[in-house]
Amino acid sequence: MKKAALTGIKKFDVIESKMPIIKNPGDVLLKINSVGVCGSDIHYYTEGKIGDQIIDFPFTIGHECSATVVETGSNVSKVKLGDIVAVDPLVACHKCSQCKSGREHTCLNQKFLGCPGQLEGCLAEFIIMPEENCFIVPQSVNQELAMLIEPLSIGYYAVQLMLIHSHKDLDKKNSIGILGSGPIGLSVSLCLQASGFKNIFVTDKLDYRLTVASNAGAFWTSNPDNEDVVESMLKINPDRLDFVFECCGKQEAIDQAIELLKPGGMLLLVGIPEVDFISFNISKIRRKEITIQNVRRQNKSVQPVIDLISSGKISPDFMLTHRFPLENTGEAFDIVSNYKDGVIKALIQM
Ligand SMILES: [Zn+2]
Ligand SMILES: [Zn+2]
Repeated sequence: MKKAALTGIKKFDVIESKMPIIKNPGDVLLKINSVGVCGSDIHYYTEGKIGDQIIDFPFTIGHECSATVVETGSNVSKVKLGDIVAVDPLVACHKCSQCKSGREHTCLNQKFLGCPGQLEGCLAEFIIMPEENCFIVPQSVNQELAMLIEPLSIGYYAVQLMLIHSHKDLDKKNSIGILGSGPIGLSVSLCLQASGFKNIFVTDKLDYRLTVASNAGAFWTSNPDNEDVVESMLKINPDRLDFVFECCGKQEAIDQAIELLKPGGMLLLVGIPEVDFISFNISKIRRKEITIQNVRRQNKSVQPVIDLISSGKISPDFMLTHRFPLENTGEAFDIVSNYKDGVIKALIQM
């Protein structure tokens, strides 16, 4: 089978590789249909690492995919040959203290698709995954959309973390901030709207992404390169905001979020910074008693997103902007890493 391996910084090669074989009776052989290019993949592409997760080249990345079930192990009971599935890329051990407390997403022995030292990724024609990682997608949902379920599940999970921390009288009319309008910021916006929040304030440095955000239901959008977004938002929201989602991983956005939040507010960090250290104005976050909530991928949020899509409560089709064959994986990554050509989500089609 073919796969696109990262063979150096900003270098992909399509190579022949051994067909994977089912070893555990609970495993499934998947034929990959579409693979999304994620912001985290871009870190591996341009820097060869995220924090201390460093690639040993050659390595296959990719963790957002839809696939068709082509073979099942002897213990597989739910998924069947021919099913289209959305793949949860994290294989949890179910034995460690994190798994036992329901936090499979921070499993101490986790293996994540396309993560160096863990599992080779899905930029390949076939992969093996445990059955529990395969979520059947109804026929009404097309297989390209199934690929978007992974990034959407992160937005959904971030919103669940917000809701868990909301005081009981949080009004759905209250304004919520999203700083950064890439696929994850847009996913947060769609999931907030599905939960009844309408006054969503979005910022981004790319005007085309603001247009997309506003077409996708954001109430207000602005570019911090063109105006003081904090001042403009506070004019409309003099009491400041209860929740701000940071979805771009930038120091500047974190500083803006701290200004925007009201005392007792919460900053949800969803973006992945390029740097290893970020700073917070301790005096401001202390005096306002700001809660900082990190959002680590997602937990138990894949099926709820499938339900939101199949019931029509969210329509994320607009995010799919670019399609490439496996041979042109490098071009897809170039476009995404340079924000070219109005890209939101680029996908590789097998
Ligand atoms: Zn991702
Ligand atoms: Zn575990």
